[in-house]
Amino acid sequence: MELLRRRRAGEKIDKLTSSEDDSDEEKRGLYDTDSEEEFNVLKEFDDDDEEVDEAPVQIPHKKSREKPKRQGGEDDSNDNDLDDFVTDDDDAPLGAPADLDIPLEFTSQAIRPLKDQFPYAIEWLIHRRINPTFERNDPVYSNAWRKLDDEVRALASSKFASSAWKAEFYRALKGRPKLDAYEMDAGERSGGLHDSCDACGRRNHPATFRVIFHGHPYYKNTLDDVESESSDSEEDGNDSDASGHASVDTQGMALPPATKVWYVGSVCCGNAETASSLIHWKHALKQWVDERLEDDGWMKPEKLYEREHMKAKKRRRVANEITDAWRENGIITALYRDFKATLEDARNKGTTGRNRGRFGR
Ligand SMILES: [Zn+2]
Repeated sequence: MELLRRRRAGEKIDKLTSSEDDSDEEKRGLYDTDSEEEFNVLKEFDDDDEEVDEAPVQIPHKKSREKPKRQGGEDDSNDNDLDDFVTDDDDAPLGAPADLDIPLEFTSQAIRPLKDQFPYAIEWLIHRRINPTFERNDPVYSNAWRKLDDEVRALASSKFASSAWKAEFYRALKGRPKLDAYEMDAGERSGGLHDSCDACGRRNHPATFRVIFHGHPYYKNTLDDVESESSDSEEDGNDSDASGHASVDTQGMALPPATKVWYVGSVCCGNAETASSLIHWKHALKQWVDERLEDDGWMKPEKLYEREHMKAKKRRRVANEITDAWRENGIITALYRDFKATLEDARNKGTTGRNRGRFGR
């Protein structure tokens, strides 16, 4: 982080000195009282770089609480403006009509392009797993998620979700994060049992695909699972959820069991696949991040134990360092490319075919 910050600032430093690297004090200092530390850093190059205008003067000397880390290589004055906002609007409820209080600076944050918002989403997902007590409703995060989600949702609802679909089918699609589709073989098709489409009910389009919605219903904002009425499948049923237990969606409506097979025509199948990958993009991204953290050993019992006994600040630092590493080695960029590709695919796709979603779905 320190290194990144300096790189962004144009300092020619190839490596942190080992003392900086190892010193808890120094790093902790950075996160605890970023105003102080950043002030010093800024001051350094403000002296020899006229373009960073009076940023240091505007730096508020406030103790920071947990908040999104500075992100994405913007200039530092912008960051400090953000800092202002975050601190001032501390407990404002999400989506509250607080526009009057929103400083202009935040507006510029709000209209930053998606690629600048995306890293916050990844940071959020990493913290969610590594540092669960983080400030998950921080406006910087909420704004990023909202911007990204708006982009996706417009496509999902307008283009691919058919108004002809039966309510139960659409509810299952929306309620469960995963969709599997299998082409029916000739024998299945010729039996005459599935002459109509289970999704839209049209009789002139015989079913050619078997579709299964599975995965545990979850809340869109927290990505936490909805408590199942029979919660014994909580532990192992998260992904497959093939137990057939009655699940409810976020509205408390019963969902068809994850074992239910829908026999659908190819058009409805293709549209449902695309709609599902759009509607559940956050969940898919979350799953990717979770799996990567697991693959990298972060969720091993000894690591969990270690983090449980860390001070909150240290845990936050660990999560921030993972985020930085992912940024530096291109993971976040790659995920963003996938995100864009999902959108592009959906935009370019007609509503009459099939293709696969992203994030390995
Ligand atoms: Zn249909």
